[in-house]
Parts: sequence; C-alpha cells; structure tokens
Amino acid sequence: MELACLDLEGVLIPEIWIAFAEKTGIEALKATTRDIPDYDVLMKQRLAILDEHGYGLPDIQAVIETLDPLPGAREFLDWLRERFQLVILSDTFYEFAMPLMRKLGMPTLFCHRLETDEKGRVVNYVLRQQDPKRASVKAFHSLNYRVIAAGDSYNDTTMLAEADAGILFHAPENVIREFPQFPAVHTYEDLKAEFIKASQLVNA
Ligand SMILES: [Mg+2]
Repeated sequence: MELACLDLEGVLIPEIWIAFAEKTGIEALKATTRDIPDYDVLMKQRLAILDEHGYGLPDIQAVIETLDPLPGAREFLDWLRERFQLVILSDTFYEFAMPLMRKLGMPTLFCHRLETDEKGRVVNYVLRQQDPKRASVKAFHSLNYRVIAAGDSYNDTTMLAEADAGILFHAPENVIREFPQFPAVHTYEDLKAEFIKASQLVNA
C-alpha cells in the first residue's frame, strides 16, 4: 500500500502568514524563520502583532477565507487521491488552514493547533510534536505503508529523506542545490509524473 504525503503551504496554498500580511497590510507579519530563526520567538511576535491590531481568530479566518488555493491545486489533489491515500503534513495550525482546506475538499491534515480565549483572542500555539513530518512518515512505515512525499522547503527535507521517495515541488534554488538527491519539479503535471515514477502502481 502506498501513501502520498504532501506539504501544504507553497505546495497547495500560498504561505498563509505572507498572504495574510499582504491582505491586511501588516508588514511586520511578513517576517519568517529566515528573519527570526527561533520559531518560538517568531510565533510569539506574530501573536503579539495580531493582538496589537485587534485581530481575533474569527477576523483572521475571515481574511484567510478570501485566499485561494494555488491554481490547479484542487485538480491535482483529486488526481492524487484517486491513486493514493493522502495525508497532508503541515507546520500550519488547524484554525488557520480550515478555510483553505474546505476549498481543497477537506483532505486529511496533520498539523498544529492554536489556543484561543473566550473572546477569540489567540493566546498560545501548541506544536503537536518535534519534527512532526518525519515522525509521521516513520509512523506510516510502522503501519506498512510505502510513502511518497513532496514539499517545497527546509522544513520538509527530513520528511522527504524518511520517505521511500521524496520530491521537491516549487522549491527555491538554494533548497534544490542543497538537496540534489531529490528530484525537483515546478508544475503539477511534472509532479504527477514524479509520483507515477516513484510509485509501484501498475496502472497509474
Ligand atoms: Mg511549504
């Protein structure tokens, strides 16, 4: 049995924080782990900025609701789900991803979660576990699944390495250069071809 594991942001949907910053005009929310390498510091700063601008979870979700999946993402997912069992492994939060997951037909998503108070203010974030993408692939192996994984960035590389086959999709040049062991493609058609190549399906 084969399982497809996909990253979410940059692969099927835009980067949520960046898109949210652009929609709201809050420049400070464009900071990423490239600017602030300590994820905890970065997240605390993001939550403080949301607070400062008076954004509670319902307001944030309303803005995210106006975002769309990447062009062709839904069709690609439908193609993939006819051929593989699919699990999306992401470092986003359920509460942020939900409006976009509806537009993707609600595939299975493993990610993190946010804590809110009774007024909808985001007060904390809860990471499910350390190195969650790799840990998930390991767990699927223990269930006797063969795993083909695709992602676009550094936080995907341990997942790609742990999988039976790893594919870089929409990855920036520096990631492609640092991880030449993974095939790198940039269109959904080419990604389909890589899945078929990596798969043991006879009639893909
Ligand atoms: Mg990504």
